[in-house]
Amino acid sequence: MEATGKISPANVGFEKQYGPLINGEMTKPANGYIDSVNAATGEVLAQIGRGGEEDIDRAVKAARTAFTGWADTSIEARSALLNKIADILENNQERLKMMECMDTGRALHEFDLDYQLAIYQFRYFAGAVLTHYEGESRPVDNGYLMTKKEPLGVCAQIIPWNVPMIMTAFKLAPALAAGNTVVLKPAEDACLSVIEFGKLLSDVLPKGVVNMVPGYGTEAGQALIDHPDVDKLAFTGSVGVGRLVGKTAGERILPVTLELGGKAPHIVFPDVDIDSAVENATLGYTFFNGESCILGTRLLVHDDIYDEFVEKLIERAKQIKIGPPTDRSTRLASIINEKQGERVLNYFDIAKEEGANILYGGNRVTVPGHEHGYFIEPTIIEAEPNMRIAQEEIFGPAATVTRWSEVEEMIQEANDVEYGLAAGLMTEDLESALDVANKLDAGSIWINSYFNFQSGAPFGGYKNSGVGREYSKEALDEYSQSKSIVAGFKLPPPGTFL
Ligand code: NDP
Repeated sequence: MEATGKISPANVGFEKQYGPLINGEMTKPANGYIDSVNAATGEVLAQIGRGGEEDIDRAVKAARTAFTGWADTSIEARSALLNKIADILENNQERLKMMECMDTGRALHEFDLDYQLAIYQFRYFAGAVLTHYEGESRPVDNGYLMTKKEPLGVCAQIIPWNVPMIMTAFKLAPALAAGNTVVLKPAEDACLSVIEFGKLLSDVLPKGVVNMVPGYGTEAGQALIDHPDVDKLAFTGSVGVGRLVGKTAGERILPVTLELGGKAPHIVFPDVDIDSAVENATLGYTFFNGESCILGTRLLVHDDIYDEFVEKLIERAKQIKIGPPTDRSTRLASIINEKQGERVLNYFDIAKEEGANILYGGNRVTVPGHEHGYFIEPTIIEAEPNMRIAQEEIFGPAATVTRWSEVEEMIQEANDVEYGLAAGLMTEDLESALDVANKLDAGSIWINSYFNFQSGAPFGGYKNSGVGREYSKEALDEYSQSKSIVAGFKLPPPGTFL
C-alpha cells in the first residue's frame, strides 16, 4: 500500500507488534515481545519480537526452502524485481522516514539522504547484476573452458541502529541480486522502519526470500550467526561484535563481510576558502547525528589557517539547531539511547582527564517535551593525535582539531589509528590532494566534498574497519562464488597417461 497524504508522527501508523517476518508473514515470536521506544521522547512506539533460536531456525529454514527457486530465477527477472523494490521504497519513503526518525531520534531532514542512497542501492544492483554473470567461455585443447558465478545460499545479515534503511539496502540489494536468500537481524533499538519495509517486500518477492527477525544481539543475533545452515555472514557494527562474527566465520569456514568502526581524518590545507571549508567540516562531523562510522571526526588543520579556521568552526557550531527530531528544521537531535548518550558524554570526561581542551560544546541539552532524549551539543576538542579522544570512535557529534605543518608528518598522523574506513581532504591543489589520498589508509576518500557518495564506488574499510566491500559491483562477488568447468569433447584414448 502506498502512503498518501501528509505524514506526521500522529498518523504514521505503527503496528502494535512486529514479530519475526518469515515466509512473507508477520509471525508470533517464541519468547514474547519487548517495547520499542521513541529515542527522543521515550514513548512506546510498538512492541518487537524478542527473537531467539526458535525464530531464527524458522527463518533460516524458510530462506533455505526459497533458495533454489530464487537462485534459478533469471537475472532479468531478479533485476526487474530489484527495480520494483526501489519503486516501493520511493513510493513509501515519507512514511518510512518518519518512522525511522522517531525510532532512531535522528533529525528528519537527514533521512532524505538515507533514503536516496537506499533507493539507489536497489537500482544500482538491478543494473549491475545484468553484467555480473557474464562468465568466460573459450575453446581449449579438445574442449571448452567455462566460468560462471553462483550464489552462496542463505545469508545471515546483522545491521546496526544508526542508519537502518541504508544498512538494509546495502545488505539486501547485492545479496538478492546475486541470487541468495536472506535472514536479516535489524538492531533492537531501530528496526521498525526496516520491518515495515520487509512487509512491503512480501508483496513482490517470493515467500522466504527475505526474512527478518528482530530481537537482542546476544539472542537473535548470536543464534543467527551460530545457525548451522547459513552460508554467509555479513555484519555492520562495533569492532568487538565484528571480531566475534569473524571468529565464527573462521571456525565454520564461511565467507564473511565486516563493516566496522571508523575515525576518519578530515585534512584542511592552507589554500582553502575558510568559510566553505568550515561548512564542509561541520557537515562531516555532525551529519547522521554524529552516529556514523564514516564521519570526518579528526580535523587536521594546517598551522597557517588553524586559528581562523577553529574560530569559525566554533561560530558555525553555535548556529546548529538542536531540536525535536521530527521538526524538519532541526539539524542535531537525539542520540539513540541512554547507553550511547552516556558513552559519548563519558568520552568528553576522558578528553578532559587526558588534558585535551574542549573548545565548544560537551554538554547534554534539554529539548522541551523530549526530556528522555540525549541531545548533545556539537563538540569541538583540541587534542593531541595520540589521545584516546582522537583515537577511538565516539559515535556522537564531536570532532577533534589538531595542527599540522609538514605533509609527510600529517599523513603519518592521519594513518595512525586502528581504523581506515574514510578520509577527507580540502584543498584547491588537486595534485597534492591526490598524492596524499594515495598514501592514506582508507577505503573511501572524499576531496573537497565530504560524503560525496557515488553509486558504484566501493565502500569498506582498511585495518580494523573491516573486511570486504559494499555499495559497488564488488559486493556481488562478496555474495557469490565462481565455478570453472572444463569440458572435454572426448575421453583421452587409452595409453595417453601410462
Ligand atoms: P553492536 O556491534 O553491539 O551492534 C550492532 C549489531 O550487532 C546490532 O544488530 C546488535 O544487536 C548486534 N549484536 C550485538 N551483539 C551480538 C552478538 N553477540 N551476536 C550477533 N549480533 C550481535 O554495536 P552497539 O549498538 O553496541 O554500538 C556500540 C558502538 O559500536 C558504537 O558506539 C559505535 O562505536 C560502534 N558502531 C558502529 C557502527 C558502524 O556502522 N560501523 C554501527 C553501530 C555501532 P542489538 O543492538 O539489537 O542488540
